[in-house]
Amino acid sequence: MVEFLNLQKINSKFEGIFKNEFEMFLNNGKYILSDHVLNFEKEFAHFCGSKYCIGTSNGLDALQLIFEAYKLLGKLSVGDEVIVPANTYIASVLAIANTGLIPVLVEPEINSYNIDVKKITEKLTLKTKAIMGVHLYGQLYNVSALKNICETNNLILIEDAAQAHGAIFNGEKSGNLSDAAAFSFYPTKNLGALGDAGAVTTNNESLATVISKLRNYGRKTSFENDFKGYNCRLDELQAMFLRVKLKYLDEENEKRKSIAKIYYENIKTNKILLPECKDFNQHVFHLFVVRSDRREEFRRYLLENSIETQIHYVTPIHHQKAFKEFSSLNLPITTVLHQEVLSLPLNPSLEEREISLVVDLVSKFR
Ligand SMILES: *Cc1c(COP(=O)(O)O)cnc(C)c1O
Repeated sequence: MVEFLNLQKINSKFEGIFKNEFEMFLNNGKYILSDHVLNFEKEFAHFCGSKYCIGTSNGLDALQLIFEAYKLLGKLSVGDEVIVPANTYIASVLAIANTGLIPVLVEPEINSYNIDVKKITEKLTLKTKAIMGVHLYGQLYNVSALKNICETNNLILIEDAAQAHGAIFNGEKSGNLSDAAAFSFYPTKNLGALGDAGAVTTNNESLATVISKLRNYGRKTSFENDFKGYNCRLDELQAMFLRVKLKYLDEENEKRKSIAKIYYENIKTNKILLPECKDFNQHVFHLFVVRSDRREEFRRYLLENSIETQIHYVTPIHHQKAFKEFSSLNLPITTVLHQEVLSLPLNPSLEEREISLVVDLVSKFR
């Protein structure tokens, strides 16, 4: 069986280091916002090339803290509109709605799956105050186009970088391509913790200060609270695991890219469509998502031949009960993508024989 993703296997190569680190953690007895969190924040900011990094409980909280902080700084208000791709994981849109802002869904390009820049301008209104770009499946959105639209229209640009740790545009990494970025370190992500974790990166000092208070009850010092905050802290133990794994992130992303290259060069078929990759620097292949108008048949065929696949995602946001206010939206490209996409196994612990099996069987689908 070629497993879609085996997290035990992904983390097993770090087992020795984790055990040593955990023994020191036990001896040390510091559990909250201590050396591992502070050092991870420095190391991850350095990795992204951004000035500040604030560790958070998860990726959704990271996004929500960005919006809450902009509200406290007077840059956003309840009821403001935020442009977001209709084709994304639901967390992107939840973060906007949960903080009292209005998500405005924009269709993707059918081949890259990322937001269609040409369709943004027609959605801009006097209430539009921000754009949230999402680097879906690990591929950067059109960075220069989104920056231009935001500069021209005086909008805040927020990056949902939860699937694109380490992707590079013109020498700049994801997390440093916008006003503020949110990362998730959910275990399946390119940089994954052994539980929930996330972070915000930014070069904006006042934003960073507000977010670092907000994630810790709004606290400035142990006896002064500047804001009505939350408990959204990055866990010390998860930061410890992340510090170990961050050192291997570039290497693991290279492994992902080399597998993607094997798929591109060797999968020979006109029965399915491979994803568009604009530039191998700009894609870290969090997922390798192909399309088929006979998806269920294709998926069953692969499973019968011992290849596990997944669907990212089954139901579009505008068809979710949670977002019934969007149920009448006409988003044909988003809808068809949700019917046709299938994610093939691609992760750093895939073995050569498994990669060949995927190539072989996908090519033989009739
Ligand atoms: C995973 C993910 C999130 C949410 O991260 P969590 O850590 O699970 O809260 C947000 N946006 C995108 C695009 C994601 O893939």
